Amino acid sequence: MTVILSKDSIEYRQAPAHCTMCTGPLWPPFIFWLVQGQLCLCRTCIENSGKGLMADLVQARAIIDLQSLYPDHTLERQHLPTWIRNLKGGDGEQ
Ligand SMILES: [Zn+2]
Repeated sequence: MTVILSKDSIEYRQAPAHCTMCTGPLWPPFIFWLVQGQLCLCRTCIENSGKGLMADLVQARAIIDLQSLYPDHTLERQHLPTWIRNLKGGDGEQ
């Protein structure tokens, strides 16, 4: 994976003209990943996927790593305020 920072880079000349996700035009900075096909994400999709796609990728990778050690385990993301409330003993305690 490469982050294209400049139109002067060799990778920029090899990258397609459009984003894989939204088909919008690509201009630096954008992501260009050339592994078993091409994945290019424009700056708008990078901004929009920062909390969604990237968080899902991090969670999926953590689950894969965990299950390589403990096949019957998994990880679930939790809403932080709910997790803290449950840690403190539920709705009745503060
Ligand atoms: Zn895009």
